[in-house]
Amino acid sequence: MKLLTYQSSKGIRLGVVTARGVLDVAAAAAATGIDCPASPDDLYAQGSAALPGLAALLAAADDPALYREESDLTYGPAVPNPGKILCVGLNYQKHAAESGMAAPEEPVLFSKFNNTIAAPNEDIPLQADWETVDYESELGVVMGATVRNVSVEDALDAVFGYCNMNDLSERDFQMRSGQWLLGKTLDKFLPLGPYVVTADEVPDPQNMSIKGWLNGELRQSSNTADMIFSVAEVIAYASRIMTLEPGDVISSGTPEGVILGMDPRVWLKPGDEYIVEVEGLGKLANRMVKA
Ligand code: ZN
Repeated sequence: MKLLTYQSSKGIRLGVVTARGVLDVAAAAAATGIDCPASPDDLYAQGSAALPGLAALLAAADDPALYREESDLTYGPAVPNPGKILCVGLNYQKHAAESGMAAPEEPVLFSKFNNTIAAPNEDIPLQADWETVDYESELGVVMGATVRNVSVEDALDAVFGYCNMNDLSERDFQMRSGQWLLGKTLDKFLPLGPYVVTADEVPDPQNMSIKGWLNGELRQSSNTADMIFSVAEVIAYASRIMTLEPGDVISSGTPEGVILGMDPRVWLKPGDEYIVEVEGLGKLANRMVKA
């Protein structure tokens, strides 16, 4: 199942992408009487437990009036209000090398906050004193179940789905102290979407091409097979520290090709557009603008 969110006069709504168009979940639930999440927040609070209801809704929703043209919609963030946002640093072999850092022996976890969430096609305002802004194409993981101390073998069973993410970063702020937090938590520095593709449609998260384009020029081109710690290993590792819950998201690291690894470094500036495409997850485009 391919889910999205979109803007409406009644707030951000949940949609399912089908061959007939985007099903308006709230309207279809009202029309059919099938119990389904009323909103994106409701969905990601329930996680994978909501999927059977959504499948029943798709089978029952016959009225063409319940479907919208995707091209008419203004996307919302694929996950509008994550409970937690975990990120993995230096998780691709070649990216660790280009960053001049040793490949880590344990996952390097850091966090972002909900102020960083942005929608596909949403402008990213850059303040004039943010002079070293960089992109990071990433595979985003959306949790669908509550887990604590989960094994690597069972970890992927707790995944709801996957989405594109751009872990935008301000490198001077990131390196200013021992903590990366400042450089990772600027407003709208985590666009995600346009879709969350459910885990049953992603056969192997460690075999997906991952690409990124700056103003149409291919800058990142790798495969999630190059990850140092697999998605399952990251989930298992994090769950030894904290309870992971439905609606938590994990940005699983970026491959090589970021500006940080270039010489000379020409940082992102207003007018630049970056597109992230992880195989099968659609394209996530965002333009930088002057704040
Ligand atoms: Zn990152």
